[in-house]
Amino acid sequence: MANDHSADHSAVHDHDEIRVRGARVNNLKGIDVDIPKKALSVFTGLSGSGKSSLVFGTIAAESRRLIDETYSTFIQGFMPSLPRPEVDHLENLTAAIVVDQERMGANVRSTVGTATDANSYLRLLFSRLSEPHVGASFAFSFNTPEGMCPACEGVGTVSVLDRSVYLDMEKSLAEGAISAPGFNVGDWHWTAYEATPKLDVNKKLKDYDDEEWEWFLHGGPVKEKRGGSNQTYLGVEKKLRQLFLDRDTPPKQKHILDFVDRVSTRETCAECGGTRLAEAPRTATVRGKTIGELADMQIDELLEWVGGIDDPSVAPAARALKDMLSSMVNVGLGYLSLSRAAGTLSGGEAQRVKMVKHLGSA
Ligand SMILES: [Zn+2]
Repeated sequence: MANDHSADHSAVHDHDEIRVRGARVNNLKGIDVDIPKKALSVFTGLSGSGKSSLVFGTIAAESRRLIDETYSTFIQGFMPSLPRPEVDHLENLTAAIVVDQERMGANVRSTVGTATDANSYLRLLFSRLSEPHVGASFAFSFNTPEGMCPACEGVGTVSVLDRSVYLDMEKSLAEGAISAPGFNVGDWHWTAYEATPKLDVNKKLKDYDDEEWEWFLHGGPVKEKRGGSNQTYLGVEKKLRQLFLDRDTPPKQKHILDFVDRVSTRETCAECGGTRLAEAPRTATVRGKTIGELADMQIDELLEWVGGIDDPSVAPAARALKDMLSSMVNVGLGYLSLSRAAGTLSGGEAQRVKMVKHLGSA
C-alpha cells in the first residue's frame, strides 16, 4: 500500500466496504463489522465463535437471496425460498462466490475436467485437429448421445451381476433356482419363467443347452399369453437389471438394497476401457494422443503437451486451456488428472478446483 495514490485514507468511500450491522444469525450477538472491498480479509477465531455464521450464513446468504430475487416470481416458485438472514442492515453487497470445502457432487458424470471446463477446450482442439476428423466438439463429449460409449452410456463403468448369488445351477425353476426379491416359486415374476414355452420348469439349470440358457438370461421382451392375461417375458438377467439397477430412483426397501449390494459390482466398461467415449472420438488422435489418454495424464504433463500445439486455428482455445492447467499446477493440483471423478476429491482438493474455476472465469 506504500505506493497507493495520495487519496486521503480517512475519507473511505461509501462503496468501498461491505457494512454489516446487527448480525444475529445462529449465535452471533448483534455483530457490527465493516469489510473492505478489493482486499483480502481473514476471519479467525475459536471453533464455534460464529465465523461461518457471519461469512456464509449472513453475507453470502443475503447475496444469494438478492440474486434469486432478480428472477421472475414464476421461476422463484421452483427455487428454494431462502429466508432473509437475521441482520439489521447489510450495505454494499456484491455477488458472492462461495469457494467452500464441501465435497463436489457425487454425480458420476462429473470429473475434474468437466468441473473446470478444461474438457470443453480439449474437445475444441480435437474437433479442429483430430486425425481422422470426427466432427464438432460435442462429438467428443461423453455427456452427449453422439459422443458417449453406447455400452456404459458415458459412465465408464458397468454393473456386473454375479450369477452365483441369484442362481442355483443344481436346481430347476420349480425347485426355486432363482433367488431374488419377487422371484420365489409362485411369485408374480417367477410365473413368467414357468409360463414360457421355451423352458422346462423341471429341468435343472445346469442341464440347459446354449439356446435355453441364452433365452433364460437374455431373451425377450416378448408378450406371452398366460391363461386370460398377458405377461411379458424377459430374460432373468435383463429383468433384474430393469427392476433393481437401471432405475432413475434407486429402490428404497432394505431387503432389495441388500440384494443389489450382494449381486452387483461395478467394473470398468470393456467396450470403452473406462474412457466413457464412443469408438470414433475414443480412437482419434491429436499429436499422437487420444482424448482419453490426455484426460488420464497428470495435469502437469498435460500442460507440457498443450504447449506443443502451435496451430493458429486453435490458438485461443490452446491458450485458455494452458491458463487453466497452469492455475491447477500453481495451486498444487498438478498430480490430478482431468478424468478424476469429482466426487472422489478431498474437501481441500475440491476447494482448490473451485477456486481455479472461478479465478479463470470472466
Ligand atoms: Zn463404455
